[in-house]
Parts: sequence; structure tokens; C-alpha cells
Amino acid sequence: MIDAHSYAAYDAQSPLKSWDFQRREVGDHDVQIDILFCGVCHSDLHYARGEWMPVNYPQVVGHEIVGQVVKVGKDVSKHKAGDFVGVGCIVDSCRTCSSCQADLENYCTEGMQGTYMGVEKQTGRPTQGGYSTVIVVDENYVLRVPAGMDLAKAAPLLCAGITLYSPLRHWNAGPGKTVGIVGLGGLGHMGVKLAHAMGAKVILFTTSPDKVADGKKLGADDVVISKSEDDMKRYAGQLDLIVNTVAASHQLDPFINLLKLDGTMVLVGAPATPHPSPQVFPLLMQRRSLAGSAIGGIRETQEMLDFCAEHDVLPEIEMTSMQDINQAWDRVAKSDVKYRFVIDMATLKGPR
Ligand code: NAP
Ligand code: ZN
Ligand code: ZN
Repeated sequence: MIDAHSYAAYDAQSPLKSWDFQRREVGDHDVQIDILFCGVCHSDLHYARGEWMPVNYPQVVGHEIVGQVVKVGKDVSKHKAGDFVGVGCIVDSCRTCSSCQADLENYCTEGMQGTYMGVEKQTGRPTQGGYSTVIVVDENYVLRVPAGMDLAKAAPLLCAGITLYSPLRHWNAGPGKTVGIVGLGGLGHMGVKLAHAMGAKVILFTTSPDKVADGKKLGADDVVISKSEDDMKRYAGQLDLIVNTVAASHQLDPFINLLKLDGTMVLVGAPATPHPSPQVFPLLMQRRSLAGSAIGGIRETQEMLDFCAEHDVLPEIEMTSMQDINQAWDRVAKSDVKYRFVIDMATLKGPR
């Protein structure tokens, strides 16, 4: 077994605290990764606080992992010691269902094995995430960090990046399309940057007037304060696609009314409580769709990393130490991050 140090949730309310545990031995197909950086996703808070489902504590979260390979199993061919690699939200899946066969492991019909929120096939124990010093992952679920990419900034791409890239690609964001991004947080700011890089006209919808200037700097062609009915009216019937990243329950109808004929709003935000049900008429009168999307498959995640390297699309990050994680979480809960925290895991490796 491999010793790992971490910060873990011990229950739904208490601050995260230091926890030592063990990773499985490196199997023939496994890669052992020394974790250098881990992004802080709002899902980490939702899950650790038991907002989505019951949790087996102690629980280590974190699924935006970048590190260096230190050891590989004898049958590993995709990665070697010394490589800089990433691990996102998926560490395994059934590999045989129609989704897995189509490179859509995120939609595995058996249920993907989450980096946290899963059960480790090899040990039967709950999976433990990236707020830790080391992780062991099957080579097929490990991504290549493109050469020269800033390693700390690469981390948030593994969840925030792919969660926006995948629906933007699936619903054909690009030149001639007007794309709305709702919420300027970790996911939303990647949505603005990615949709802009894909050539779409980008409209940001935010509840925070102090984020207007940033939204434009990040690539939005216009910014709408979503709490203002008058401001919202400017885009009635104008948008081809909306990707909604809001982490809290809210009325969807005001956004649905902004879609064109055949437009789609994709929900990626995953609040603890359901949204009020949308009304039927705004949907049926313009043949509009309401959809959902969850992260992306491994092949598409690699494609996204390569796209980000080519187009120089990287997140805006604030670095934090592992010891300051609870203050960082307080700020995430208040939507007060510019725009993604990344934990420098070196702070956990020294004397604790
Ligand atoms: P985040 O950084 O906290 O951003 C959420 C944004 O939502 C905020 O910055 C805020 O933007 C907006 N917001 C408006 N009202 C809010 C309220 N009452 N409470 C909180 N936020 C509010 O979170 P994130 O990491 O981007 O994640 C966003 C959501 O997506 C979370 O629910 C997360 O669990 C989920 N998620 C889903 C997937 C997936 O695969 N579908 C993947 C990752 C995360 P403004 O200030 O601009 O209004
Ligand atoms: Zn996430
Ligand atoms: Zn499957």
C-alpha cells in the first residue's frame, strides 16, 4: 500500500482536517501520480457537505488533479515516469457498455467510477480525491498535460474546462452562433473563454454587477445583470444556446425566454435543491429544449486540453495552501473567487 496525506471531510459540517490513509498498490495497468496541484470545484463542497447524497466519511474530495508520474505498472504504455499528467472526475468505468464504447465514459450505463463519489473496483473502498499527495489511477483514465502548459492552470481544465467544452461542442457553439453563459464562477469563466475561442458571440449573465468588467476582459461580447428584467429583455429570443452553471436553485423561465426557435439551455450547475419547474409555454411556443450535461469523456477531455494549449485558453486562478482550504471554501460558497482556487500540494508535503 502507498501512504497518502490529505485534508478530508470528517462529517458534513466540520472544517476539513488532516488525514493519513493508504492508496492501493500500483497494478499492472496503473499509474502512480505525485499530485502537484488540485483545483477546488463547487462540487467538492456540495459532496463533502452531504448535499447530494450520503457520504462515507472521512472523505477526500478534489477532481481537478495535475501531477507527475512516479511509477507505472508493467503493462502501462500510455504514460511513463516523469510525465506531467491530469486526472479529472473519472478514474474508471465498465468499459463495455454502449457509452464506454463510444468514448463517453461519463455516461457509463453502469455508472462511472468517480475520482471521489465512487467505489474503487480493486479494493471495494470509497474512492478518495485529489486534496492529497498521491493517487493511483488506471492509465486509460489519465490525461496528458500538453507540453509547456502551466501546471497549476491546467488543473481546473480537468473539471471546469471539460464541463463547458463538451456541451459547447455538442450543441455546435461557433461562428454565427450566440451563446449565453450563466454565472461567472469556475465553470462559467471557462465557458466564456471557450465559447469565445470557438468563435461564438458570447453573452454573460451574472448576478454580480462587480463582475461585468471581468466578464468582458475574459471574452464576453456583452454582460447582462440577470436580476434586472429590463437588461434581460435586450436578449429575448436572441440566443442559440445557453449553458447554465449556477450552483443554486433558481427560476429557469427568464433564461428560456431568451432562446431563439430551436434554441437549447443546457444545465450543468448541480444545486443541492431542485430548480422550480419551468413553465411549458415558453418551451413549446418556440420548440425550445432544456437539457443537461455532465463533464465529458476521456477522449474529449484530451481534445479539450489540446484545444486549450493551441488557443491559449487557461483559467484565472488564485493559489491556496492546503492549510487554508477552509477559508477558500468559505469564499467559494459566497461566489467570491477570481475565478478558481488551486491548491499547491507542496504545502501538504512539507512538515505538517
Ligand atoms: P462557482 O465557482 O461557485 O460558480 C457558481 C456561480 O453561480 C457563481 O459564481 C455565481 O455567479 C452563480 N450564482 C448565482 N447565484 C448563486 C447562488 N445563490 N449561489 C451560488 N452561486 C450562484 O461553482 P462552479 O465550481 O463553477 O460549479 C457550478 C455548479 O456546477 C456547481 O453546482 C457544481 O457542483 C456544478 N458542476 C457540475 C458539473 C457537471 O458535470 N455538470 C461539473 C462541475 C461542477 P455570478 O456571481 O456571476 O452570478
Ligand atoms: Zn468539478
Ligand atoms: Zn460503461
